[in-house]
Amino acid sequence: MSNEQPKIPQATAKRLPLYYRFLKNLHASGKQRVSSAELSEAVKVDPATIRRDFSYFGALGKKGYGYNVNYLLSFFRRTLEEDEVTEVALFGVGNLGTAFLNYNFSKNNNTKIVMAFDVDERKVGTTVGGVPVYHLDELEKRLHENIPVAILTVPAAAAQALTDRLVAQGIKGILNFTPARLNVPNHIRVHHIDLAIELQSLVYFLKNYPSPS
Ligand code: ATP
Repeated sequence: MSNEQPKIPQATAKRLPLYYRFLKNLHASGKQRVSSAELSEAVKVDPATIRRDFSYFGALGKKGYGYNVNYLLSFFRRTLEEDEVTEVALFGVGNLGTAFLNYNFSKNNNTKIVMAFDVDERKVGTTVGGVPVYHLDELEKRLHENIPVAILTVPAAAAQALTDRLVAQGIKGILNFTPARLNVPNHIRVHHIDLAIELQSLVYFLKNYPSPS
């Protein structure tokens, strides 16, 4: 394959970590090849989508053979830059924030929460899951350019003001777990995960479309 990788569509890029995790497990169990049907079953993405996704990676499955696991793994490693750890700061050490700090994406070796912030004096100065918790007043002092990503688990009412400070500080991406819709300049990327809405929509689908198509 040439070193120039074609631009991968965003929807495909979002599935990369999912494929990658599954392929690492396959590789660890000694498997050399995998079919799109097997992948589909494991990651719950339909085989046609998998074939299309993989064609962007320059991986063309062969009929009756499937995909070469090593080839795919080396592609994912390069693309997801596993060697390069992306440092993340978390804001709001409440129930959800605490859970993330304890979890700290430990199965995902290319992202790491390195510091957390809160306004509650009882939390400031502690460490949670090995991560130091600083006062929000220290944001400008502590957050430096090598921390491009912020996770927001603060109350919704605090989210926009905090976001403005993060933007001024040069943050590049925000994973927003608050229900607030954030206003940011175009060059900042926000991924919004509203767990309450996800759950509600799941329940709605169960009621209205009982069997998956
Ligand atoms: P969760 O929503 O995570 O379940 P919770 O119900 O425990 O949290 P929230 O009131 O949502 O508590 O607050 C989450 C955390 O955010 C708390 O620890 C709170 O002290 C902290 N917090 C509140 N305002 C801010 C702020 N402006 N910046 C940083 N942290 C904040």
